Amino acid sequence: MSNPSSRVGTVFLVGAGPGDPDLLTLRAARLVMNARVLVHDGLVDPAILAMAPKGCRMISVAKQRSRHTMRQEEINALLVREALAGNDVVRLKGGDPFVFGRGGEEAEDCFAAGVPVQVVPGVSAAMGAAASAMIPLTHRESASIVSFVAGQCKGLTDQNWAGLAGVGRTLVIYMGVATADAIAEKLMADGLAPDMPVAVIENAARPQMRVLRGALAGLGSLVSDNKVKSPALIVIGEVAGRGDMMELKQVLEACQ
Ligand code: SAH
Repeated sequence: MSNPSSRVGTVFLVGAGPGDPDLLTLRAARLVMNARVLVHDGLVDPAILAMAPKGCRMISVAKQRSRHTMRQEEINALLVREALAGNDVVRLKGGDPFVFGRGGEEAEDCFAAGVPVQVVPGVSAAMGAAASAMIPLTHRESASIVSFVAGQCKGLTDQNWAGLAGVGRTLVIYMGVATADAIAEKLMADGLAPDMPVAVIENAARPQMRVLRGALAGLGSLVSDNKVKSPALIVIGEVAGRGDMMELKQVLEACQ
């Protein structure tokens, strides 16, 4: 890839939200619709990818928990290479690029190579799931603290989550499906009540969304009995046990 003009392209780290294209920001939509080089991961909904113009070069760097098609360093190097070749790059990520999105690593490597970066925030899965499942993350009667944690990372048991969950708090767990059982054990060992309400939201903000509710002690079986698959979020706290507003919403919508 020669770059006779020695123009350096910009890397746009763009949040694609939780799925529904309507949840893109206007800036994200504009960038996708004008993209010439688009690098995306596996969580980006096909309907959003379909918004890219004809002739746009689409590069998938889809990752799955146990299978990395491209290592993170290779993705960073790809972004740098494209930008140094003079191309603006739209790097589309599910949710928000700076929430469990490795956007920080990509930005650091770009800056280190002299490549300008712009970040376009997106609706992170926690917000998308809360809205679609009608589970407020805060509520004056139930929670005034919200924490986001990663349930699948090195040394889950060594992580200190003490104080993040409990009465008056909401804990949102990303990437927690595979370790749901261990997560429940860990939280109960930290003193959380076994009957603390939990909700599992699979495919939030997508037509095939499922919302499952239960109690902390049964979280592992809630996930395994229902064969919950990624992407799914786990919400732990009193907010998950408040009246089922989703049901009320559906009843009202059916009456209209
Ligand atoms: N940057 C993303 C998170 C990437 S980590 C964001 O801000 O949303 C990937 C995890 O996000 C998944 O394992 C899942 O826990 C969660 N996730 C992403 N999209 C989701 C969706 N539509 N429904 C439920 N969870 C989702």
